[in-house]
Amino acid sequence: MKRADCQALDRADPLGPMRQRFVLPEGMIYLDGNSLGILPRHVGARIAEVIGKEWGQDLITSWNVHGWFDLPRKVGDRIAKLIGAPPGSVIAGDTISVNLFKLLGAAVKLRPGRKVILSDSGNFPSDLYVAQGLRDLLNVGHELRVVEPDEVLDAIDERVAVVMLTEVDYRTARLHDMKAVTEVAHKAGALTIWDLAHSAGAMPVDLAAADADLALGCTYKYLNGGPGAPGFLYVRPDLQEKIVPPLAGWWGHAAPFAFDLDYRPAPGIVRNQCGTQPILSLAALDAALDPWDGIDMQAVRKKSLALCRLFADLAVERCGRHGVKLMGPGDWRERGSHVSLGCPEGYAVMQALIASKVVGDFRAPDVIRFGFTPLYTSFTDVWDAVDRLADILDQHLWDRPEFLDRKAVT
Ligand SMILES: *Cc1c(COP(=O)(O)O)cnc(C)c1O
Repeated sequence: MKRADCQALDRADPLGPMRQRFVLPEGMIYLDGNSLGILPRHVGARIAEVIGKEWGQDLITSWNVHGWFDLPRKVGDRIAKLIGAPPGSVIAGDTISVNLFKLLGAAVKLRPGRKVILSDSGNFPSDLYVAQGLRDLLNVGHELRVVEPDEVLDAIDERVAVVMLTEVDYRTARLHDMKAVTEVAHKAGALTIWDLAHSAGAMPVDLAAADADLALGCTYKYLNGGPGAPGFLYVRPDLQEKIVPPLAGWWGHAAPFAFDLDYRPAPGIVRNQCGTQPILSLAALDAALDPWDGIDMQAVRKKSLALCRLFADLAVERCGRHGVKLMGPGDWRERGSHVSLGCPEGYAVMQALIASKVVGDFRAPDVIRFGFTPLYTSFTDVWDAVDRLADILDQHLWDRPEFLDRKAVT
């Protein structure tokens, strides 16, 4: 494979023109859309309008006239289309951590008598922290059981209330088989909660076909909603009326403006809201979802795997002699849309790479991680990124004090 071959792949790429819809900083190769997605070009203008007109001029009336109050549901319905969920089953708002608290709290109440929350060691630590906090708050003897990813199926039994997993491992990119795990969980009478942080916008997700019970995700990664953009949560329609929200708040009340002293949950997905939502961020997210209209997620998957494979093959070929190794499954069907490389001195190597304008990130202890976002990453980007990585390793360019000094966000 040569650089010219990558340029030919780009010319033949049906998703290639989508790149125009994003603000790609000059000279930068951005392979961190799995942490913070790139700004879609029109979002700035849309936000300026929301601030100038809706907030600046129309003020409080905007809750009604500009649909602010319904925005979490409207945005939820747009996300639903990308994750195989029916209308009215997804609501945008809050963060993964907060939404997980809500869904996990509701789920354990739906399985009284069962005391095990099952997760795996590939889960994102915040998800495990939320479960630990909820367990301690409930204080009725729940156990958080954390097994290895390939032991999950065997660990599901009739003591398990909830199987709580992240579909794509944030480090290794290993993919859980959502349908298979959900089926085993249901046979044992357990509920499932799926974290879609590295799935939504990264690959096809079909919550309905998998019969998933509950799910949640964020929008600042592959969905490009912006820093701290609202997350979302999903509740399968037949469960919605059974949910008793542990964070009961007025935005989830059946009649919020009746100001009753007692809580009464709203029908449907809305009861999972708690309080006032960040409208500017929701408006940015709403606009950021525009490029996804009409996108075939199978085409996204095809390009994602092609980009990932190309990157991994080139990186191992050109940097293997420096100890660079592909992490995670060797079978590409069992992987999501990022590639993690085991790399000695990975932190300093990533700092040197960022200084040379190839942006990925680092995860302890020695993992350098690269996200591949088919709407705006090209095959030539992949070639150039590996070329710079090889230069940095061949010439020891990472071995400088400014690259070895650790920052707060890696
Ligand atoms: C990014 C990420 C989160 C982040 O949670 P927030 O509450 O939105 O900060 C949670 N889970 C997984 C799997 C993630 O990758």
